[in-house]
Amino acid sequence: MRAATQRTLQTAVSDRLTIGEILIRRSGENGFVLTHRDDERENQLEIFRNPESASSIARNDDRGRYRPLKTAPNLRHGWRLEVATGEELQCALDYFYPGRLEVFASWKQGELRTTSFRETLDRQTGMYRIAAQISNGEADEVIGNFCRSDGGCLRTILWKRDQSGMMPSSKLPPEKFDPTHAQEANAIPLICQEACNLLVAECRKAVKGENASGL
Ligand code: SF4
Repeated sequence: MRAATQRTLQTAVSDRLTIGEILIRRSGENGFVLTHRDDERENQLEIFRNPESASSIARNDDRGRYRPLKTAPNLRHGWRLEVATGEELQCALDYFYPGRLEVFASWKQGELRTTSFRETLDRQTGMYRIAAQISNGEADEVIGNFCRSDGGCLRTILWKRDQSGMMPSSKLPPEKFDPTHAQEANAIPLICQEACNLLVAECRKAVKGENASGL
């Protein structure tokens, strides 16, 4: 899968490309420069040249708070990462957005399997088993709030609510479920193929009547 992902990435990066909050530009014959999208014209950036530096860059937000969800729209600013090859680019992006390139490559090849929200909840064990008791109305609210792109998560949702094929939430705009929406702007979409552990935890809180938390 790694070779397929590499091919997909190389094809996608023409001159400039975005993925999530990251802008990727070609540099020289084989290299790439990555910055926060907001920092495209910023000159006073801290320079990194090791792709593994992406791990520390992605760890905390601008205020130094830990980022539990790497696809939340709170990537810190002020850095420039220069990588020498496509392999290093893939490595860096795997730190910024773990697993997202492989999911994108699977989706491009028509091989991506998704898991419905109810299936994900039904397989929970231990303290998270109770999350499956969430009603569809509550789930509509929780997903609409937790997964929203402005302040929640940048991923495009491809999972459905249940076997009926219902959309997960009526509170989210149609583009939240459309990976081609991001591609029109020369971007690799961050795809969500199943509800994450953080969303499951929010559902548990809703069932238990605890206040839902933001990220
Ligand atoms: S379920 Fe998917 S879209 Fe929602 S917050 Fe988790 S990763 Fe993001």
